Amino acid sequence: MNILLVGSGGREHALAWKIAQSPLLTRLVIAPGNPGMEALGELRAVGAADVPALVSLAREIGADLVVVGPEAALEVGLADRLAEASIPCFGATARAAQLEVSKAFTKDFCARHDLPTAAYGVFETAPEARAFLDRFSAPYVIKADGLAAGKGVVIAQNRAEADAAIDDMLGGRFGQAGARVVIEEFMQGEEASLFALCDGKDFLLFGGAQDHKRAFDGDRGPNTGGMGTYSPAPVLSPAVEAAARDRLIAPTVAGMAAEGAPYRGVLYAGLMIEDGGPRLVEYNARFGDPECQVLMLRLKSDIVPYLHACAAGTLAQQPPLEWHAEAAICVVLAAEGYPEAPKTGSVITGADADFGPDVVVFHAGTRRAPDGVLTAAGGRVLNVCARGATLQQARDRAYAAVGKIDWPGGFHRTDIGWRAL
Ligand code: AMP
Repeated sequence: MNILLVGSGGREHALAWKIAQSPLLTRLVIAPGNPGMEALGELRAVGAADVPALVSLAREIGADLVVVGPEAALEVGLADRLAEASIPCFGATARAAQLEVSKAFTKDFCARHDLPTAAYGVFETAPEARAFLDRFSAPYVIKADGLAAGKGVVIAQNRAEADAAIDDMLGGRFGQAGARVVIEEFMQGEEASLFALCDGKDFLLFGGAQDHKRAFDGDRGPNTGGMGTYSPAPVLSPAVEAAARDRLIAPTVAGMAAEGAPYRGVLYAGLMIEDGGPRLVEYNARFGDPECQVLMLRLKSDIVPYLHACAAGTLAQQPPLEWHAEAAICVVLAAEGYPEAPKTGSVITGADADFGPDVVVFHAGTRRAPDGVLTAAGGRVLNVCARGATLQQARDRAYAAVGKIDWPGGFHRTDIGWRAL
């Protein structure tokens, strides 16, 4: 098979690493990719949201499958345009991607299908939003409706902060994405991410993970895209997974099909788990980054037949997925100043070393100069991932590798996995 993989982060490097192991693969082209992927496929300098150029590239290489990493490409209709060109695509149509793109859409969908989630209201004016807040007590949850680069959610500790967040969002801070705000009940519990591969009518659970969103040890500091993950997540017990499958994933896949927007690709459910009962925090239309990295390390099956089956609507014919018994962990190395103002350009040495069979270093935001020198080119820069018989062993292996990478311009958390350990 000729496969086009879209994206350039650590998530896509992990997907490329796994896809490249498939005996079904003839040719892997990655747009735009990153320096870590150079050995896995051909990199093409096409932006991950440049729909016309991506469709042309898929045609040019005779793609049998396009695998879309980031949500931005889905929001602007890459899957729809590929469908028109009869090119199979692992990724949701723009309508189905509304599950990630619009929080108001998802909350209304949950209400229509009676899915467990926080009570909510959607508002376009500040006085109405404030009046609704009166029903709750602190902490208050205020969200911009649309995609806001992970910055559109405010958990306010008091009413003044909550009111300010409403004014800020409706005042245009996020442009159209903040034209509506969603006010939610605050849910207590422990968070975990659960993934499902979907083909429009059927789905297969694809494991779970827990991440660390705060920048610094002890879950302190600003929120980030994710500083580390591990899988499996003990909080996702078989009973919790079954409850999430039956009360969230299955009715969501059925509901989207019934509403004329069949969901294809990976459905990422952010869960809040309290007393064994999962409730939905949010849906995403893509793999989590860095959750994808640990899932790819744990997956034993060839991923390609499953990605293709999602696109072709043949998931029900696939055998059950096989997983390595080991645990996996991912430690994110970020550039100093991340998330507010990461300093790019600092030199990284030792990231390409051979760390042994159980350690893989995925690149996220790196650049390689013509002389081969690797530098930081983004906020999250490297993902040091490892497998181990136990999470402790995986963690020891990952941190041993982190210690061998010389990057004075970077930082990382030293406590990834603490909740499970
Ligand atoms: P979201 O982008 O919707 O996942 O929100 C980002 C983060 O805010 C989540 O990972 C949670 O930690 C937190 N959060 C969002 N909604 C709620 C809620 N209703 N109750 C408690 N925490 C929430």
